[in-house]
Amino acid sequence: MSGIIKLTAEDYHSVFNKSETTKLLLAVDAPSYTILDVNCAYLNATNSTRETLVGNSVFGAFPANPTDEESKNIERTIYSFEEAIRTKKAHTMFNYRYDIPVRGTSEFEERYWTTTNTPVLDESGNVKFLIHSPTNVTEIFKLAEREKQAMEALITQRKQLYSIFMQAPVGIGIFLGADYIIDLVNPPMEKIYGCLFTEIKGMPVFDALPSVRGLGFKELLDNVRLTGNPYYGNCVSIPFVRNGILENVYVDFVYEPFRNDDGFVVGVIAVATDITEKIEGQLKQEASEAQFKFMAESMPQQVWTADANGGLDYVNERTQSYFGKNAAAIIGAGWQEFIHPDDLQGCLSKWVKALETKELYQVEFRLRRHDGQYRWYLARALPFKIDDTVVKWLGTNTDIEEHKKLEQQKDEFISIASHELKTPLTSLKAYLQLMERGVNNTDFNGKFVSNSLQQLKRLEKLIADLLDVSKISAGKMTYNIGRFDMKDLVDEVTQSVQLSNNTHQLKIRSNPTAVLDGDRYRLEQVLTNFLNNAIKYSPGAREVIIHSAIQDDDVVVSVRDFGIGIEKDNLAKLFERFYRVDNTAMKYEGLGLGLYVSAEILTRHNGSFWIESELGKGSTFYFKLPLNAGII
Ligand code: ADP
Repeated sequence: MSGIIKLTAEDYHSVFNKSETTKLLLAVDAPSYTILDVNCAYLNATNSTRETLVGNSVFGAFPANPTDEESKNIERTIYSFEEAIRTKKAHTMFNYRYDIPVRGTSEFEERYWTTTNTPVLDESGNVKFLIHSPTNVTEIFKLAEREKQAMEALITQRKQLYSIFMQAPVGIGIFLGADYIIDLVNPPMEKIYGCLFTEIKGMPVFDALPSVRGLGFKELLDNVRLTGNPYYGNCVSIPFVRNGILENVYVDFVYEPFRNDDGFVVGVIAVATDITEKIEGQLKQEASEAQFKFMAESMPQQVWTADANGGLDYVNERTQSYFGKNAAAIIGAGWQEFIHPDDLQGCLSKWVKALETKELYQVEFRLRRHDGQYRWYLARALPFKIDDTVVKWLGTNTDIEEHKKLEQQKDEFISIASHELKTPLTSLKAYLQLMERGVNNTDFNGKFVSNSLQQLKRLEKLIADLLDVSKISAGKMTYNIGRFDMKDLVDEVTQSVQLSNNTHQLKIRSNPTAVLDGDRYRLEQVLTNFLNNAIKYSPGAREVIIHSAIQDDDVVVSVRDFGIGIEKDNLAKLFERFYRVDNTAMKYEGLGLGLYVSAEILTRHNGSFWIESELGKGSTFYFKLPLNAGII
């Protein structure tokens, strides 16, 4: 049979039905788009039955999933129908979501489609039907979606890693391949290298940093890259050009193999810490310690240091040879054993006080030499502070044996001389007093006698001071304690000093009752001394102000003059024995003993004393005594 097989409508229907491609035949009756026919492939793909579809609107048969935003694609479908009708050409919608209902439930199944709407034209070229042919691309779509997500996660991970590297507090560099192409250099590494990442990115590392070429680093990198074993470098000095200057940088570093996702070593990652400051600090400290040791060893004194808690931690060679012991036996608390037992307690309490107050430590004690002999030493130490925290005490012990002996001889001489002088002076005074009675005060001889008595009184005062000094140094000063009112003492002493003086007016500004226990005679001596000094050291002035006041549990008495004043540097020394300010020593008579004796008396009364003074304007001398505390 020749020729052409005539196809019937049945045949077409059967082809339509058997086609593996899903198909709906739709009427062009917008907005319904009634389903005219449907093939088996379509029914399978959409879980539908012919009865539920044919004769219904395509949108009625497949309502939009009300819970899903994506179901807005219904609009896209209408648009595609309209486009196919308008252009009379097939129109395809790609990868859109259009969920289908699960039959018999209110649930929807997520589906993605790529659909072609093909217009079927009649003889006159008008669109008669639409063939709606969706392909279920859900699996492909989801796969692509998953790949996209995995890729995004990878990118995010890389970004995070990059940001961690860039923010790491240690230097990190990544070098790729056999040429060690710079892939990453973070800011701390930029500092170590002395250049910016952007300047060297993509360059072989030994081209970017020529100063490290030929120093063995390439061999180290090769080894790590080829064997996969890391390399650790500690405190390595590496030359880098920083700010145009070749500098040695000390680093601790590690070279680790850098692997790709498949685990192959593709380069090296270097992690480095710049420890230059630390090392240079150490070197400096070592140098300054060596310098200190050299100085301490070359000094003629015993030199020592102690830690902040007062534990001796260093003694120089001279100290060791004096004690005949090595340093280990002296440091810590070992030194205490060499101090004379009578001096140890005083020394320890001063040391404890200095540690508490963080101020000068100064004490005299006897130290036992290697041959068992004791010699007098003056120990002095000052704290070395950083931000008011003591980090070290630096001390010296100076041999004052000879000085002490001389002082002792002087004390003995003073003691003998003042006693020897006292006896003839007492007789002289008695004779002069007898003569005074026998002469007329107004005649010539009478004046001589009274002048002689006047001079004798001054001599008596000097000798009394000398006697007091020798008593103090021998520890023999005695005190007669009784109760008295400071008000009376101030009144009487002021009156008595005023009587023998007509150049100055002594003015009492305030003088309340202040009853206390003490040696009235000795305390009179203190105030007399303050008043006499005030007059003596203010030759041009006319008045001296006396002021007494109760402050808490103390009475504070002050004597103010308008005289020569005292320089600040000298204030602390005035209460020392024989101390006289240079510029006054020649002009004013005196031995420099009055304040020393006063200080001793006040200290024994648990009192205190101080001076406020301005050179050329005057001074105020204060003393303070407790009202209730017993003395000595
Ligand atoms: P003296 O007056 O006998 O020298 P002091 O012990 O009383 O001995 O005083 C010690 C030193 O203190 C004096 O030499 C003097 O330099 C200084 N001084 C004491 N009082 C005053 C004062 N009111 N004004 C200035 N200097 C004073």
